[in-house]
Amino acid sequence: MKKIIQHLENSKQILLATHIEPDGDALGSLISMGLFLEAINKKTTLYCESPIPAIYRFLPGTERVVSTIDSISKYDTAIILDCGSLQRIGKMDELVGRVPTIINIDHHITNSYFGTYQFVETDSCATTALIYKLITVLGGRIDKDIAFSIYTGILTDTGSFRFSNTNMDSFAICEEMVSIGVDPHIVAQNVYGTYSLGRIKLLNLALDSLEISRNGKLSMMTLTESMLSKTDTQPEDVDGLINYAKRIEDVKVAVLLSEYPNGNSRLSNAKRYYHVSLRSDGSVDVAKIAALFEGGGHKTAAGFDIKTKLSDLKTDILNLSEKLSSG
Ligand code: 5GP
Ligand code: MN
Repeated sequence: MKKIIQHLENSKQILLATHIEPDGDALGSLISMGLFLEAINKKTTLYCESPIPAIYRFLPGTERVVSTIDSISKYDTAIILDCGSLQRIGKMDELVGRVPTIINIDHHITNSYFGTYQFVETDSCATTALIYKLITVLGGRIDKDIAFSIYTGILTDTGSFRFSNTNMDSFAICEEMVSIGVDPHIVAQNVYGTYSLGRIKLLNLALDSLEISRNGKLSMMTLTESMLSKTDTQPEDVDGLINYAKRIEDVKVAVLLSEYPNGNSRLSNAKRYYHVSLRSDGSVDVAKIAALFEGGGHKTAAGFDIKTKLSDLKTDILNLSEKLSSG
């Protein structure tokens, strides 16, 4: 962290980027770090390839996030947030890879330690908790706007303080953010209480698609492109649905297969692109499973992308259940 701090003191033009299909921690870390660097007079660009999900647009600073990069040569530094690999930022990975200094700030267990400097703590509950630490060590000021982003990142990445990554820091940092002026009800209302009707209808279709392996240890839901179009929903509306499959008693691994709405238009029905989300009850390391398919994540939450035939994918996933030990 010392080298990162020394470097940031001298850098002038900084590109900050986070992963595609951003969640609360991705956006929270992007915005909190961006607002902080601006406050100490750095020129910043906040980049995310995917649109900002509607539920996060209340965060002060989201209007600064752009989805294009015009000239890469002006940046002396790129800070990559909440990404296990540089490829997670999407199609600009090679271009961003040309920035002279790359700082990798992340908490995924599968982090590849890419970049010039790394601030990777895999036992941290969220990347926003690492941003909090960085600002604190720098002696910086966390204003209310920054506090909203940090609070939201920790709240969402811990599943509202329920997931196994929830620790003392989660509460301590969030308590401090509340003392700075964050209203937990406002965050909860925006993040969990403003779903479109389509999103609820999508939940209905997701629940209807539920399949359980013969031994009861694996649950699987499938979302197709046509379900999204039928309910007029976006990929962002899929976020969180897998938790319903994870809640079932005796289930050790929950899987959500979602067909990519954009990658498939030119493909026949034989092989299509899917995002596979994996969750575990803690007894199985799903990051290891995702890594087998060039994906990544955490022990209890991971994912990967695959181009395949749906029936083959389902068979492979259901076969995985046979390997889940009893007890
Ligand atoms: P989700 O299933 O919600 O997309 O992702 C769960 C976790 O796995 C998140 O922490 C996410 O960053 C990570 N993850 C999901 N998909 C991928 C992937 O394709 N590659 C890598 N490296 N991580 C992923
Ligand atoms: Mn995260």
